[in-house]
Amino acid sequence: MLLEAKDVGHAYGDRVALRGISISLDSGQVVALIGPNGSGKSTLIKSLLGHVPATGEISWRGKHVREWRPRELARLVAYLPQSPRHEPGQTVAETLRLGRAPYWGAFGLESSADERVTLEVARLLGLEDLLDRSMDQMSGGQRQRVYIGRCLTQEPAALLLDEPNTFLDLKHQIDLWQLLRDLAKKKNLAVLLASHELNIAGAHADRLMLLHDGALAASGSADTVLQPEVLSSVYGVRIERYGDAANPVVVPRI
Ligand code: ADP
Ligand code: MG
Repeated sequence: MLLEAKDVGHAYGDRVALRGISISLDSGQVVALIGPNGSGKSTLIKSLLGHVPATGEISWRGKHVREWRPRELARLVAYLPQSPRHEPGQTVAETLRLGRAPYWGAFGLESSADERVTLEVARLLGLEDLLDRSMDQMSGGQRQRVYIGRCLTQEPAALLLDEPNTFLDLKHQIDLWQLLRDLAKKKNLAVLLASHELNIAGAHADRLMLLHDGALAASGSADTVLQPEVLSSVYGVRIERYGDAANPVVVPRI
């Protein structure tokens, strides 16, 4: 198992943000974390990476997250934070190349592999023509693709993405989900992503995990998790469901 976490908890001061979460993730799987604002999605992702000091057992490839050297863990897992950043004037190519940092030698020397991987990722994401452009000139959607590209140049076994589709229009959201599914199925990547798009997540993820006040409210297939009673109590709005068990569609009743 790539990632195995049991009974994960975290509190910011005396405010409990996560409790009793168990999650596993294996190569080739796409898992979506859903839940309202403040339910603990970002905190869970950061806990799994060791960025916040969580309680419980969290291991990557059988080794506790705290025993991994950051540089080595970065070759295994790439992380896209909810608000990724770049330096002023930084180009697309420079941003993509930063994903190679965990492979650089002691003096920050790049290798020919870095160049090749960067170009491959640029091609995969349709960014070849933008390489010399400044990040500041990109649209929100283009910039987000570059940040996802930066994760891919890390050549990780797992991607942990915190709301990667926030700035994307409908078509780009679906394109992103399809790309992630392709990476999982063809390149055997493990993907865990936080998303607010219940229906799109339900249609593309192998498994949904619904968080509520830091705890797991439901987990499983879209059919299991996208239940109006469960969602109504978690989101505090009335929910109606359409479609069938294979393709459920939920909408808030307005
Ligand atoms: P989500 O990503 O699902 O919106 P978060 O993990 O960001 O949820 O937040 C979970 C809870 O922890 C929220 O109540 C939030 O206010 C709180 N929280 C998040 N980050 C911090 C922080 N740095 N300090 C204190 N409380 C925080
Ligand atoms: Mg968040």
